[in-house]
Amino acid sequence: MKQLLLIALLFAPVVHAEAKKPNILFIFTDDHALKSLSAYGGPLAKIAPTPHLDRIAKEGMLFEHCLVSNSICAPSRAVVLTGKYSHLNGQLTNKGSFDGSQQTAPKLLRKAGYQTAIVGKWHLKSTPTGFDHFEVLKGQGQYYNPMLITNGRSVNHTGYTTDIITDQALKWLKQRDTKNPFFLMCQHKAPHGRWEPALRHLNTFEEIKIPEPPTLFDYYSGRSAASANHKMGIAEDIGPSRLMFRYSSKFTPEQFKIFDGHFRPRNEAFEKLNLQGRDRTRWNYQRYIKNYLRCVKAVDENVGRMLKFLDDSGLAKHTVVIYSSDQGFWLGEHGWFDKRWMYEESLHTPLLVRWPGVTKPGSTSDALVSNLDFAETFLDIARTETPKDMQGRSLKPLLSGKTPADWRKTHYYHYYEAGGHGVPIHYGVTDGHFKLIRFPDEKLNTWEFFDLKTDPMEMKSRYGDSEYTQPITKLKKELDRLRKQYKVKE
Ligand code: CA
Repeated sequence: MKQLLLIALLFAPVVHAEAKKPNILFIFTDDHALKSLSAYGGPLAKIAPTPHLDRIAKEGMLFEHCLVSNSICAPSRAVVLTGKYSHLNGQLTNKGSFDGSQQTAPKLLRKAGYQTAIVGKWHLKSTPTGFDHFEVLKGQGQYYNPMLITNGRSVNHTGYTTDIITDQALKWLKQRDTKNPFFLMCQHKAPHGRWEPALRHLNTFEEIKIPEPPTLFDYYSGRSAASANHKMGIAEDIGPSRLMFRYSSKFTPEQFKIFDGHFRPRNEAFEKLNLQGRDRTRWNYQRYIKNYLRCVKAVDENVGRMLKFLDDSGLAKHTVVIYSSDQGFWLGEHGWFDKRWMYEESLHTPLLVRWPGVTKPGSTSDALVSNLDFAETFLDIARTETPKDMQGRSLKPLLSGKTPADWRKTHYYHYYEAGGHGVPIHYGVTDGHFKLIRFPDEKLNTWEFFDLKTDPMEMKSRYGDSEYTQPITKLKKELDRLRKQYKVKE
């Protein structure tokens, strides 16, 4: 008996260590272009560094090609929750309400013993399901003084929303039941428009001229009529509220005094200049990009606060930190703001993962991964079986430094919100070298094809070009194969 007890005592800590499942902290932003995350490099990296986000990459893995399946807010969130394409999870556009009765990763994690919580932006209209705790903005929310629906009750907060979401996420982490692992989705409104910076950042970048992207003035020749019909131009479509001639938040009088005190004199000076044509577009771009980057700066600071809490509480080594955004965004390329297109800047989204003991610090992956893989990855981290009807694949092998030989070589994309910012329904496939896009609308009824190696800015479609007959035919076949594999009907 004594011997048995001794054996039990010897093995008990080992069994406990093996059984301990990692915590998962998923930090998710809205509309964060990877060009404004300095770990990804590029012309903005030095001007607007994001040291805290970069830290996740330095201590973990940066994914160079995380491609979304439908580049728009609510649909992307539904893909993350379900691990299924929009046509199967039902969230095709921003208009509908998410069917919360269906299978989701948080529900499965909860069943597996995780405490689950979501704090911040939900944007799926229906009441969140699968969470022990939810504290979410109503709809888009606002940048100042948000109301958070806290487990069904409306609670008003005063302050800057990016800070408040972090405050509330930390508050939940501190009071959670520490016996079980946690799955926390900390989801920011930022840097979604209309870009109202924190008061402390009103003057950040004030004296700098942000470099313009080479395609700021794009005439859309060389492609189908689709992109020329856009309504997301920094020149014509951006409007007064996105440029801080009108404000979206309801400020306190003290906040208003500072916020309006910054923008009003600058707006009046601008109006006196009466800029026209390209000069006006250039001014719009500077106003837009600076406020966007100021909103990113607050995100970065708040990511730093979360990482510091993990360090200080000793949770860091048991917690997988995942940072991503619901899609990419146009920072003036092709003259645009917004997202939606299958073109590179809105198709790519940032993805950084820190998994101590599993992922080699400072590593990168060039594999084609997707937000379709997030749910499966959460479940795999939790050592929980992935249901067969999920359509993505766990990133765990990649995070362990072993990309499987049969990892996907192509990615299927499908956008459904016809006419939003002038973007028509389209779908397509890319293998990272070539990209084929189909615009099925009867008025367009056309294709585009890009060689990303020779034309990374996608300025000229080579569809119908005899030089590319072979890869076009190959990608058309692949498109058919993927549509069958993913059970696409329309
Ligand atoms: Ca979004």
